[in-house]
Amino acid sequence: MKIPVHSANHAPSYYAATANRQTDYQSLQGDQSADVCIVGGGFTGVSTALNLAERGYKVIVLEAHKISWGASGRNGGQLIRGIGHGADQFRNEIGTEGVEAIFRMGLEAVEIVRNTVDRYQIDCDLTLGYFDAATKPRHMRELEEDYESLTGYGYPHELKMLDRSEVASVVGSDMYIGGLVDMGSGHLHPLNLCLGEAAAAESMGAQLFEHSAVTRIKHGTRPVVYTEQGSVNADFVVLGGNAYIGNLEPRIAGKVLPAGSYVIATEPLPETLHSRLMPRNMAICDQRVALDYYRLSADKRLLFGGMCNYSGREPASITAAMRPKMLKVFPELESITIDYEWGGNIGIGANRMPQLGRIENNVLFAQAYSGHGINATHMMGRLVAEAISGQAERFDVFAGIKHMTFPGGKHLRSPLLAAGMLYYRFMDLF
Ligand SMILES: Cc1cc2nc3c(=O)[nH]c(=O)nc-3n(C[C@H](O)[C@H](O)[C@H](O)COP(=O)(O)OP(=O)(O)OC[C@H]3O[C@@H](n4cnc5c(N)ncnc54)[C@H](O)[C@@H]3O)c2cc1C
Repeated sequence: MKIPVHSANHAPSYYAATANRQTDYQSLQGDQSADVCIVGGGFTGVSTALNLAERGYKVIVLEAHKISWGASGRNGGQLIRGIGHGADQFRNEIGTEGVEAIFRMGLEAVEIVRNTVDRYQIDCDLTLGYFDAATKPRHMRELEEDYESLTGYGYPHELKMLDRSEVASVVGSDMYIGGLVDMGSGHLHPLNLCLGEAAAAESMGAQLFEHSAVTRIKHGTRPVVYTEQGSVNADFVVLGGNAYIGNLEPRIAGKVLPAGSYVIATEPLPETLHSRLMPRNMAICDQRVALDYYRLSADKRLLFGGMCNYSGREPASITAAMRPKMLKVFPELESITIDYEWGGNIGIGANRMPQLGRIENNVLFAQAYSGHGINATHMMGRLVAEAISGQAERFDVFAGIKHMTFPGGKHLRSPLLAAGMLYYRFMDLF
């Protein structure tokens, strides 16, 4: 029997198999009241809830499936500095100060995760060390620029450019001509992080409901959020459904497109192998749009992921789609068994900058992290909490960026994205 990749419980992933706990929150029943009602129980929703609960707000989180059921419980686990892809392009809209603020927030975002793990003692295998791997001279030039701007800013963590002869100290593959080591970024078990944050939010008074899909929102001075069996009226509503939001709120639905990304996990690798292939246990990404991303788990499996599906159709076999990519990087893994495969939906935005804003004064949203969301969701959670508490300056830097609605209506959007990605894959060749 084929187990559905997007099953109603957690995907049958390595993460689900190694989760610290199984959540069993009630579904919402009857009419309830809160200061803030949050739709979606991934990193966006849960980190917003935690930030607000820390500030003393009464918060209700409504999750359609299970806490961290979406991308947050399925991703590659790579915690990487930076938000979006090149804030410079928005200089006309948000000014030089805005561009610099986003740069700083891209670094703060990683610190938020590190501090949260520390403060709430969340057992999520957080490991520092990340390598941006270059396959072309163009990538090396871009990484040199990153290195210069980070050191110019006074980045507090070790950074080092590696040339081809030094790559083997980080990754045992012939694919790369160099890259950038960043000891401030790293990797973690994302499902356990999100579950730990949910427990922390709950301990501070937040209420979480599972199997509570929001079907409708009635806007007004005190908006009301409806599920099949209940409702929540609140001063504020926050929408954090991201790639899974569907058509709940048409004003934002067309700005975020779901795109499938897939991961395979090998059996635990023998010490002789993982110490040669991944000697410093770093998270690794290459620089292509359709990139490979991989890392070791705590029990030394290789978790190898990639974006391979923009059409909305799942591959018939994730292992068949991903294993050749893995073997291209590490031919030595030919005889190694794949124990797990899974996938999830990334929320893609047209300009690849996370979307933060208000659709009403009291209805805020955060979405579209374009595959780089572990850190950014945590920054957005803090910014939404700041805005609700009356300090919207940083929120408004992001809210000032315009985001195009993908053309084509809901039936044509995915085929258009697929065509667009073919263009980017073509550009990756140069
Ligand atoms: C395979 C994969 C690999 C990735 N790898 C990385 C990586 O290595 N590093 C990185 O930084 N980022 C990565 N990402 C991206 C990252 O996982 C996301 O940006 C991040 O998790 C988004 O969090 P979120 O809370 O906004 O969305 P999600 O985690 O998708 O959560 C949205 C939640 O909202 C719920 N929901 C939707 N509609 C409703 C409704 N009407 N009512 C109630 N609930 C609703 C959904 O059920 C879902 O649980 C990856 C993503 C995928 C899919």
